[in-house]
Amino acid sequence: MISKNYYHDKFKEELKLVEKQISKPSLLLHCCCGPCTCYPLSILHHYFDITIFYSNPNIYPKAEYDRRYETLKRFVLEYSKDNNFSITIVKQDDDFTKYMNLFKKYSNDKEGGNRCTLCHEYRLKLAMDYASQNNFDYVTTTMTVSSRKPSYLINELASQLEKQYSNIKYLYSDFKKENGTLIGINISKEYKMNRQDYCGCNFSYFERKTRYAKQD
Ligand code: SF4
Repeated sequence: MISKNYYHDKFKEELKLVEKQISKPSLLLHCCCGPCTCYPLSILHHYFDITIFYSNPNIYPKAEYDRRYETLKRFVLEYSKDNNFSITIVKQDDDFTKYMNLFKKYSNDKEGGNRCTLCHEYRLKLAMDYASQNNFDYVTTTMTVSSRKPSYLINELASQLEKQYSNIKYLYSDFKKENGTLIGINISKEYKMNRQDYCGCNFSYFERKTRYAKQD
């Protein structure tokens, strides 16, 4: 059994190695939304030349997918300007129908079950494919900052996937540590972002609707 801080310690060790490099290595940062990007970006921009990667075919409906992207883009551009660093944004509109066809058999799973494990893995793979094809030094995701997503699971999934790629390094992280979630919430307030009230997919969208209906 690995310790609670295992992946956070790995993260800090890797940053120490990066600090010794003459120039900043490139990092593809998979972002699920603006609010989840706040804290990771506030740390990572000191160490890496960052490209934001928005590829989230799970998000439903399309208007919400676009809204989350616009919020992310606005934040990233304002934050990088305020903190004097440059950043690139890549939006990859993956196949929404393919995602739905793959995941519909898990429609009755509760949030946090098999469906979510596969969903994290699916998006990690999209990011790793892109990072590998475009010769990034590192790749990681903001998803470990979310209190609804188990950091351990995301890191374990990444460690399995990483074996398929010889030219990229996965940056293990646990952005919940050191008050990351709370710091992220405060940054998102400072940049006037709306925080969404469901995870993203149509299953979680309808779960939320049912939850609200019961409260009425
Ligand atoms: S609830 Fe979130 S993590 Fe789970 S399948 Fe839906 S979008 Fe993916």
